[in-house]
Amino acid sequence: MTRWLAEYAWLPDHAEPTPDVLIEAENGRITAVTPLVGGGGAPTAGVEVLRDATRLPGLTLPGLANAHSHAFHRALRGRTHGGRGDFWSWRDVMYTVAARLDPDSYLALARAAYAEMALAGITCVGEFHYLHHGPDGQPYDDANAMSAALVEAAAHAGIRLTLLDTAYLTASVDGAPLAGPQRRFGDGDALRWADRASAFNPEDDHVRLGAAIHSVRAVPAEQLATVAGWADRQGLPLHVHLSEQPAENDACRAVHGRTPTRLLADHGVLGRHTTAVHATHPTGADITLLGESRTGVCLCPTTERDLADGIGPARRMAEAGSPLSLGSDSHAVVDLFEEARAVELDERLRTRRRGHFTAVELLAAATVAGHAALGWGDAGRLSVGDRADLVTVRLDSARTAGVPPVGAFFAATAADVTHVVVDGRTVVADGRHLTVDVPVELHAAITEVTRP
Ligand SMILES: [Zn+2]
Repeated sequence: MTRWLAEYAWLPDHAEPTPDVLIEAENGRITAVTPLVGGGGAPTAGVEVLRDATRLPGLTLPGLANAHSHAFHRALRGRTHGGRGDFWSWRDVMYTVAARLDPDSYLALARAAYAEMALAGITCVGEFHYLHHGPDGQPYDDANAMSAALVEAAAHAGIRLTLLDTAYLTASVDGAPLAGPQRRFGDGDALRWADRASAFNPEDDHVRLGAAIHSVRAVPAEQLATVAGWADRQGLPLHVHLSEQPAENDACRAVHGRTPTRLLADHGVLGRHTTAVHATHPTGADITLLGESRTGVCLCPTTERDLADGIGPARRMAEAGSPLSLGSDSHAVVDLFEEARAVELDERLRTRRRGHFTAVELLAAATVAGHAALGWGDAGRLSVGDRADLVTVRLDSARTAGVPPVGAFFAATAADVTHVVVDGRTVVADGRHLTVDVPVELHAAITEVTRP
């Protein structure tokens, strides 16, 4: 039995945090959540119980879920701002890093990137993984060696992983073949993608599998159902990049006579196990299709601003029925507090009005909805039976001093996270990762893959 005493904890169905909460866990699961004031009083075991509980000063949240990651993009941070550029020129720089990686260097880079996430309070990451093969497109001896590197990296970093094995088959909506640095992404066709993906069965407790369709650019329309069916038969989450750029919508209309969302709907891709990533430029009809099918939407606001993508209609999509989750995607920033408040602040910029999302809605996007989008329906709440993930944010830093606990999502940054517990195990204490020297390892891994 492990016990923590949280100065404040944000409990499910509470509009604001509760003071003095005793949280108990066993075998990685929460076994009791007891507010000591006005909510049950002292625990039955008496004061000794409180004496050996770990004190968590500040605000304790459930584990944060980063629902959209490309781990290797962490190497690009600060390196793509020289020219004016756009999404497409950024993508060229990204490809040069992709071409450098092998299973060993990917393990080192992903381990450091995931450890940075742990420091930021992220207890589970969804890796949208398409760097499958060698740089020339030739499979490694173990065709899933790169997937295995990511699983090992998450284990070292102490966080859970949903490996979203991504089908990436063509270079454009009209079916142009992969060329140059893209060749290592491809499996040929969706059946061969499914064969390779099916051969990967890690048994580690910290990993679950899912599928992804890179985008309508990368999977031909007649093969979309193969990928969707593979995920559906196994009850696995399915993710897809959707309408991040207007150019994707234009190309899809030109080739298929319909929007990317309509194309996905027509091929059975949408549904409650599916998450559309970005959805920055949907039409009104697209928003209805996503919402009525209960397709989730993963917003990545810091990446969308970095790449000048635009502002997705978050409130309208939520109203239509799409659960919202959050991702740091390109890792220009790894800070889910920033992603969460951006959902509200971007709506303010667009509408010149305040008050679109409550703090509870932003908390849900960062926690329970993100975990659900990644196939972990038993995480993201401080409630009995859930996974014992705790993220404590200090309320006495220069940023958070004087801020009421309910205002944390509008004041705190990832740097204010002091204590992180994943499945009952402490991964971060006093703001330090217990097993990974994060800045040193990031520097070494990034230097290795960006050398001229
Ligand atoms: Zn992405």
